[in-house]
Amino acid sequence: MNLATWVERNGRRMPAAPALAAGDRVHADWSSFAAATAGAAGAFRSEFGLAPGDRVAIVMNNRPEYLEAVFAIWHAGLVAVPVNARLHRDEIAYILDDSRTALAVTDPEHADDVGSLVGTVASLNTVVSAPGESWDRVTSASPAPLAERMADDPAWLFYTSGTTGRPKGATLTHRNLLAMSLSYFADIDQVSPNDSILHAAPISHGSGMYGLPHIACGAVSVIPESGGVDSREIATLLDRWPGMSFFAAPTMIKRLAAEPAMAQANLANLKTIVYGGAPMYLADLESALEVFGPRLAQIYGQGETPMTITALSKADHADRDHPRWRERMQSVGFPRTDVEVRVVDPDDRDVPTGEVGEVVVRGDEVMAGYWDRPDETAETLRGGWLHTGDVGSFDDDGCLTLRDRSKDLIISGGMNIYPREVEETLLRNPDVAGVAVVGRPDAEWGETVVAFVVAVDGASAPTAEALDRTCLDHIARYKRPKEYRIVDALPTNNYGKVVKRELRDQLRAERNPPADG
Ligand code: AMP
Repeated sequence: MNLATWVERNGRRMPAAPALAAGDRVHADWSSFAAATAGAAGAFRSEFGLAPGDRVAIVMNNRPEYLEAVFAIWHAGLVAVPVNARLHRDEIAYILDDSRTALAVTDPEHADDVGSLVGTVASLNTVVSAPGESWDRVTSASPAPLAERMADDPAWLFYTSGTTGRPKGATLTHRNLLAMSLSYFADIDQVSPNDSILHAAPISHGSGMYGLPHIACGAVSVIPESGGVDSREIATLLDRWPGMSFFAAPTMIKRLAAEPAMAQANLANLKTIVYGGAPMYLADLESALEVFGPRLAQIYGQGETPMTITALSKADHADRDHPRWRERMQSVGFPRTDVEVRVVDPDDRDVPTGEVGEVVVRGDEVMAGYWDRPDETAETLRGGWLHTGDVGSFDDDGCLTLRDRSKDLIISGGMNIYPREVEETLLRNPDVAGVAVVGRPDAEWGETVVAFVVAVDGASAPTAEALDRTCLDHIARYKRPKEYRIVDALPTNNYGKVVKRELRDQLRAERNPPADG
């Protein structure tokens, strides 16, 4: 089944009901949403000469046209490549090149950067900007019929950075995204056409995923004018759009819960806040529950099995009398209805309850593989199970707690930062001989990035400004370290490998110094 069926169907079933909103204003009803997607699909196929299976990238901030682009791409039988709009131009170029994208849909904020890639990225020949005249022309082209898609046809290439530092495209099929949407109804919420979904977090990631079950049911997708998380704006939108749900990273929830505007908001219109993507501290969760009431649900997933490994439901959050409520609130909850989840040792044998091992998953949500990377696909999906790289343990009730991230991933402000990539960047600075990048626990951001830098022998140590400049020249701003420490040497083991745990321990000890005496 082609997921674009949903928009076409809703266009007939409830033509005049709001489908897309920019803040409190209706951007499109279902009939015009369906017409815009069929029109743009017609332009993609006829005018730009794309054939089913070709890739189309979206490099845009959150805006209603984002969803028009996604569904037009699917309507035409093409594959969407949503790119994190905060990435550096070179990182965007890498993804477009890797996916062999022919067409990119962008917005005025990114039009110069993306436009300049035509001629640099060999596969890229067309860039369309939305909103504006060219998007109006594209969406009003002669409509294409809905392309037939089979369940295993790719729908979305979800670029997730690998430990190797190079982003990999998790190939998500129509089946994967359909299963993910149905699983939302099974484990998180029922959705009705009177509901709304607010896209306060990037549509290219979790928020876009959770948008899908809402579009399936005919709820309205609301894009805040600020393009992000603004408590006063959310309070205003809550008045306008009832039955509202949204997805947010734990750091955003923490911030929102502390804002007076939220306490005074019309929370009767707030249905569910889905949080996940990084650990949530118990104290923060308790404050959030105080402000929002039992409207929080947690999910644990990753791009390779879109947002669907385990969940902690609203009912679990509300069940305060449960003897293990506190432990549960620090866990990631229970396996989702339609996936199998195991915790295994390095030989893929189940470890006993209570013992720590790698979390592996099997089910209809698990990606078809990494785009064009047969070796990494075979390694990650070995034995038919997705190896998440996350380390955790089950308790007697079947509740999963994550203990560590075997991949050394740093999660800061809800964004994933892979140390290796930052290290490789810093090593481009001619004054840097060695570097190790680790995360330091941080109450506001979850973690912040700290770089331990060894200067080239005989050279004077590079300044923090110079190191920052090196990062800004090559990677997105949010990935650069908050602190640089010049050290004489990095701790290494017998094999000469840097022992990052020691650096992390050092940072933790500084935060919580042992008591004197
Ligand atoms: P991504 O593929 O960018 O969505 O990142 C996925 C990774 O984020 C997972 O492999 C986990 O390490 C982490 N993660 C996702 N959800 C949670 C959660 N609820 N609690 C703790 N860590 C999480």
